[in-house]
Amino acid sequence: MKEKLILVTGGSRGIGAACVKLLCAQGYAVALNYARNLEAAQAVQRECEAAGGIVHLMQADVSEEPQVMAMFAALDAIGLPLAGLVNNAGVVDVAARVDQMSVARLERMWRSNVLSSFICAREAVKRMSSRHGGQGGAIVNLSSAAARLGSPGQYVDYAASKAAIDTFTLGLAREVAAEGIRVNAIRPGIIATDIHASGGQPDRAQQLAPQVPMQRAGSAEEVAQAIAWLLSDAASYTTGAILDVSGGR
Ligand code: NAP
Repeated sequence: MKEKLILVTGGSRGIGAACVKLLCAQGYAVALNYARNLEAAQAVQRECEAAGGIVHLMQADVSEEPQVMAMFAALDAIGLPLAGLVNNAGVVDVAARVDQMSVARLERMWRSNVLSSFICAREAVKRMSSRHGGQGGAIVNLSSAAARLGSPGQYVDYAASKAAIDTFTLGLAREVAAEGIRVNAIRPGIIATDIHASGGQPDRAQQLAPQVPMQRAGSAEEVAQAIAWLLSDAASYTTGAILDVSGGR
């Protein structure tokens, strides 16, 4: 398995970090992308390597094409064929109504959550598709239950960016299905990570937990399990699927 390289964007914290740790434990070599928080990325790397895993740190803001291109050049230099991509990096913003949203906010949302996933997938397909001489692979995109709920009064922009990820997943899955690549998405519900604090609501997961049919927030590790399954050969006939990991919400 250590000959199988998986790139996880936003792997330094939250769901991405849990995913890096699980994939390492399952024996993959993992490229951990992060944007700014080197300390958090190094902590994940140390934990994985102490358990015998292999983690390559890849700093890049995935909403910036030149940085994505440099990251994929660094991936190529590792010398292992890319077997999978987890398009996990994503952001929210503070609660606002649509009639309060600036273009700067909207552009950051599209770039961080949609453009980033498109350009990372584009580069991954160039390397994994049999059409380009690749050996196939799997892509997992992080959507959100917000894509179904719309997030009124909170962040309709975020919800719409994740709805774009759902459609992107369906279209790309069908586009590359005959080229050895499976493309699926996960729609997490309320998961206890730092993302809520970055949207100005550090207690959001605890506050909304009673509204979840399972009466609790999910953990990053529970989402990572679903991602790892979709990446694995156990999901060999699953493509274009959008899997809710949301406690019934
Ligand atoms: P998080 O705890 O805030 O972590 C975000 C990660 O993404 C960090 O590793 C961060 O890197 C990285 N990142 C952000 N923007 C980036 C960029 N432009 N380039 C590279 N890396 C970037 O988030 P999370 O809760 O784990 O969420 C992960 C994914 O799941 C997101 O797509 C999110 O929308 C989705 N999701 C989360 C929830 C939830 O309740 N938590 C629910 C539904 C969907 P640094 O450490 O360097 O900042």
